[in-house]
Amino acid sequence: MGVYDLKTQERRRESPAGMHFYGLYRDCPRKWFLKYVLGLRPRYTSPAFLLGGAMHDALQVYYEDKANLIHAQKAFRDALNDRRDQYQELSKFTEDFNRGVVMLEKFHERIGSNDFNDYEIVELEHEYQIPFGPEDSRFMFTIRPDRIFRSKRDGLYYPIETKTTSYSLDSAGVAAERGDQVTGYLWGVSKMRPEWKLGGCNIDVIYNKKSVFDAKRMATPAMRSKYELQVFEMGLYSTVAEVTQKWLGLEKYPWPLLFPQHRSACSHWGCEYLGVCFSPVRDGETPPGFIRDEWKAEMSEAFKKTQSFDIGGVKYEAR
Ligand code: SF4
Repeated sequence: MGVYDLKTQERRRESPAGMHFYGLYRDCPRKWFLKYVLGLRPRYTSPAFLLGGAMHDALQVYYEDKANLIHAQKAFRDALNDRRDQYQELSKFTEDFNRGVVMLEKFHERIGSNDFNDYEIVELEHEYQIPFGPEDSRFMFTIRPDRIFRSKRDGLYYPIETKTTSYSLDSAGVAAERGDQVTGYLWGVSKMRPEWKLGGCNIDVIYNKKSVFDAKRMATPAMRSKYELQVFEMGLYSTVAEVTQKWLGLEKYPWPLLFPQHRSACSHWGCEYLGVCFSPVRDGETPPGFIRDEWKAEMSEAFKKTQSFDIGGVKYEAR
């Protein structure tokens, strides 16, 4: 098994070989190993992530059904219900269930209802597989922009990225504008659709805090220079080369040597893998608070790497 196989398995859960896969490795290689190689997933998921995912599904229906708010709200409730057992607290699920439909109303009022006048809807959640790297060692990167519109005014194409937030409408927009996700969309679409003239990536933010609801499309679409797109591609290639090297290194070196703790990353947002990161995981065990992804059919090889070792005086004892 190699990195390609990992990507194939991941396809069953989320965008394969996409920004999540590489972004997680860049944030903390150890977390990447725990998630993608050992297949461990926290029993519960962050409510913000669950709400964002359900909103995403609802907006797809909204645009498929030509700005049909009622259909989108139903799709939202269905999507959130499907995620219900990933909520740790029922009260949080209920809160999201109720506020999500109002957030969609606000989206419809402020953004969505105008889109059918201003744009042609060209693609919805279309997945692109983008080859990159030298001819003799091609890698694949996946993007799936929420939507791609073509402006009726200027004829330019606009991938769309939508965020939900409880913090600040503008801060969420600025963070998305600067983020790799948007760079990935612009890079991927410009590579796969060279005939399209891009006007930038439109960023929509839907906000709710307590009784305040709002939605806004950022005034200026996010754009990247050709140089920035090249730098992005080079960074991607360097990450994938490093991941591959580490994966191959597992044949020789135990995983704690290759994936050391990355303490500065732990404190950024708090880490959902904290409970498993500082103690060795043994074959056949699923640590409390975690589940092991079912699609990880062949775990033994990976777990073998977690056993005790002693290399050149460096000792690690699996308990
Ligand atoms: S606790 Fe820290 S080192 Fe461990 S996986 Fe999380 S971010 Fe990485």
